Amino acid sequence: CGIVGYLGFKEAKDILIKGLSRLEYRGYDSSGVAIMNENLKVFKCKGKVSDLQNLIGEQDTHGSVGIGHTRWATHGVPNNVNAHPHLSSDSRIALVHNGIIENYGSLKKELESKGHEFYSETDTEVLTRFIEQVQKDNECSLEDAVRIALTQVVGAYAIVLVSVNEPGKIVAARKGSPLVVGVGEDKEEFFLASDATPIIEYTKDVVYLDDEEVVVLTKGDITITDIRNVARDTYIETLDMEL
Ligand code: GLU
Repeated sequence: CGIVGYLGFKEAKDILIKGLSRLEYRGYDSSGVAIMNENLKVFKCKGKVSDLQNLIGEQDTHGSVGIGHTRWATHGVPNNVNAHPHLSSDSRIALVHNGIIENYGSLKKELESKGHEFYSETDTEVLTRFIEQVQKDNECSLEDAVRIALTQVVGAYAIVLVSVNEPGKIVAARKGSPLVVGVGEDKEEFFLASDATPIIEYTKDVVYLDDEEVVVLTKGDITITDIRNVARDTYIETLDMEL
């Protein structure tokens, strides 16, 4: 029910946890984060963001790229396994998702026939594996895999992904569910969230993504296309809003 992301030079964990807390008002049953370093560090559990903080405790969360999620279960009960982020089979891609993938049943069957094993009951894990499979089949970048996969997806989504194969990059997309990008000074850092509340304490420059848009964030650069890879304007608005 809520999504956050950070790419920049600060410790991602603090920004993600704070952002998830700011989205708590939307309601949720589980939460989780994935922080990228040499590999992905994933922490997720049923319950409140404070439970997630307890779970993380003093464990190493070092890294300045990460994604976070609060879940409002639609497919599968609220539990630790169904909580997001979800991972590719090699644990190198992490994805968070708000919304519903309506054709996840047929995608799942197709993926199972290719050897994928599923741990959760979620539509989101199916989408994660589908993007992984598309990337493998096409030997393409993460953003191309996301674009190609989304042309075959029916449903509503706001998704944010990171991959240790392509460090220093966040890919996100939306249709039906909201997603906002906060643009830091000189584009040296970016924030992602379901609405602007977690972003305004860092920057007032935001981009509201439109349906079927895909954004690629790297240090110093933001690129937006649609899912058919047609370039879109990066229209940066200044928020007139206080915390
Ligand atoms: N459909 C997904 C799930 O059940 C995402 C739910 C949400 O929007 O939080 O895990």
